[in-house]
Amino acid sequence: MKILFVASEAAPFIKTGGLGDVIGALPRALAARGHDLLVVLPRYGAIDASAANIRDTGRRVEVQFPHLNASASVHVAAPAERLRYILLQNPWYDRKELYGESGKDYRDNHKRFALLCAGALEAAKQINFLPDCVHAHDWQAALAPLILKRGWAGRPAPFKARSVFTIHNLAYQGVFPREAMSDLALPGDLFHPDALEFYSQLNLMKAGLVFADKLTTVSPTYAREIVQSPETGAGLEGLLRHRQQDLVGIMNGVDYTRWSPDVDPALPQRYSAQDLSGKAADKAALQRELGLDVDENALLTAAIGRLAHQKGYDLLAQALPRMLDRKLQFVLLGMGDSTLEQEFRALAERHPTRVSVQIRFDDALAHRIEGGADVFLMPSRFEPCGLNQLYSLRYGTLPVVHAVGGLNDSIREGAEGWGFRFDNEDLQGLLAAVDRALTLWSDRSSWRSAMQRAMARDHSWDRAAEQYEALYRG
Ligand code: ADP
Repeated sequence: MKILFVASEAAPFIKTGGLGDVIGALPRALAARGHDLLVVLPRYGAIDASAANIRDTGRRVEVQFPHLNASASVHVAAPAERLRYILLQNPWYDRKELYGESGKDYRDNHKRFALLCAGALEAAKQINFLPDCVHAHDWQAALAPLILKRGWAGRPAPFKARSVFTIHNLAYQGVFPREAMSDLALPGDLFHPDALEFYSQLNLMKAGLVFADKLTTVSPTYAREIVQSPETGAGLEGLLRHRQQDLVGIMNGVDYTRWSPDVDPALPQRYSAQDLSGKAADKAALQRELGLDVDENALLTAAIGRLAHQKGYDLLAQALPRMLDRKLQFVLLGMGDSTLEQEFRALAERHPTRVSVQIRFDDALAHRIEGGADVFLMPSRFEPCGLNQLYSLRYGTLPVVHAVGGLNDSIREGAEGWGFRFDNEDLQGLLAAVDRALTLWSDRSSWRSAMQRAMARDHSWDRAAEQYEALYRG
């Protein structure tokens, strides 16, 4: 089959979160299964063209907007057989960040990502890549299924194809003032609660949810949660319930060529389930690097991620002073909410040899933390899939999770388990789970067995790729 992906980020070109990891890995897994893949993304200014082997083809695509003909140059990279990336270059993408700065989204995001969607279909047509299926990801790509059904700027779609829309996170829906409809020349009949209207505003994610042939989200539990209530469905639960026949949860996989301690070039020492000595060395190296006491007996707990409400780090910040009554250390790598950043920084200042707080985005450090830590903390309020707990399993870093979404699907606790779960998002639940981790830690041979069970979990992409294949076929 020929499959066209439309998405706003992809590792290793550029990533801000899990979406980038998925778009970096799933197309590769599909290509390895014999399909032809074309992935279209924006060519952001921050992408390092030489490192990513991107070249300018000299071709351009034109996308019509009212009073404006936007054109984008077509850049390509072909990292593997049957796998090509097209990156669309336009000044709209030449900014410091991907989606916004200082906590504010760019005001013209609707136009920037409409250019991505319409441009992706045009670019595919231009190189005669006529897909069997278009797979669009999150609100930034959600206009692609709509254009396939309804055309763009008064013209029919450049080709016919089935479409699949994947929700990576329902918390980001691409909501704009009503006037954005006319900026995009979207037909007025679409401004209706059964189509794109959302409480008198334009909701771009709805373009995907309404017009795609099939809908997916990134774990079975999240697929069930989002139809349940206005809180879990973020106001779209009614529409999602209406489309439940077409909605499936497919758990994300892990790119084990990038995230596995036996091959990870970022680790001071590599290791495997058979020989864990490297992990002890990585722990000591990490403690040294972060200025923590080099102490193999202190349980080194870690968290990596966006400091956003979703991730429950406010609860973690609240729990930390109590956690520090126990014999443990803590490292945080993340950025986001400035109040939380300050709160964590203050804790690190108070306990410099036991708490380290790194406020930045640093992929190599994320790998070293996975390698060196003993426990990975994910107290997320909701978690569509979550990738870090899956990485942690591979590194033998036992996850402590709030049992929601993909965390519920991937972590088991108990005699044959490989992590720690709590059901209620409160201080008591989190602290009790940390205490159960400490109890197991005190019995090092049981801890080692749990690590080995964690490392044996298989979350490779192939299984997910097979499930997507069935959807593309229809
Ligand atoms: P989400 O997509 O909701 O942010 P996921 O757990 O699905 O969460 O994926 C997050 C990805 O982003 C992981 O690969 C994680 O390592 C990475 N990441 C998040 N914050 C940082 C950071 N500050 N530095 C390095 N990597 C980060």
